[in-house]
Amino acid sequence: MGLSVENLSVSLAGKKILDQVSFALPEEGIFFLLGPNGAGKSTLLRAICGLIPADSGNICWNAQPISKLSPQEIAKQIGYLPQNIQSVEMTAEEFAMLGAAPYLKWGEVPCELHRRQAEAALELLGISHLAKRQLNRMSGGERQLTALARALVQNAPLLLLDEPTASLDVKRQQDFLQTLQKVVKRGQKAALLSVHDPNLALTYGDRVLVLRNGKIKLLSASPNFGEQLCQILKPLYGDNFTLSADGYFYWKTERRL
Ligand code: ADP
Ligand code: MG
Repeated sequence: MGLSVENLSVSLAGKKILDQVSFALPEEGIFFLLGPNGAGKSTLLRAICGLIPADSGNICWNAQPISKLSPQEIAKQIGYLPQNIQSVEMTAEEFAMLGAAPYLKWGEVPCELHRRQAEAALELLGISHLAKRQLNRMSGGERQLTALARALVQNAPLLLLDEPTASLDVKRQQDFLQTLQKVVKRGQKAALLSVHDPNLALTYGDRVLVLRNGKIKLLSASPNFGEQLCQILKPLYGDNFTLSADGYFYWKTERRL
């Protein structure tokens, strides 16, 4: 059970981006996807939720092949947060309410219950003050949090979040991941998120996937998680990429002062 990806290959414009990728993740936990720019992180997340076709391979969520599900069924199982959230003329509350769409019958519109769900999601993420603000009048980080609120209203058991912390300040990154920890625990969800900061993966990750040259390596949290991850990441980032004695990744560079 959980997420199972078997021999997944994906090509874009004739170039192989994912090459026979296989891994399995349990149905509860926070899982990080690392890899340099252009490694294929977004491609993998988009392929899992069926937004781009695979050349070959199988993707199952709780033993159900995703390819056999309708878009509405997929939306009930997977909440996907794209890397770039489009700026639309909708308030945060209206946008978060869109998360109710997979549960509405044809012609049905969101009701007071969905509005309350949106309100609760905005509050959980600390952005209630943005409820009546339009997305096109928000910062990138505020838009990302609003889009996460939509995914929470969607209430899917699997969350795929593409660089959700990229536009957040350092404090908000920690707040975001602590909130995600609560969401995952409370709702027994699985969250797979791409990030660039390996310290976030080390601090909050139950498993870490590293994508490079179309192939993937999977690492589980363990007492020597940091050293193992460092060994995998050094070939990607160079020898100056280092793990400190107290377990934080940093770059050995000369300071100006
Ligand atoms: P990441 O998210 O790890 O930065 P992406 O999955 O966005 O990487 O991209 C992987 C590779 O696929 C990159 O080389 C990128 O240039 C290429 N790529 C992404 N989208 C397209 C597309 N629509 N058509 C052709 N190539 C693409
Ligand atoms: Mg990307």
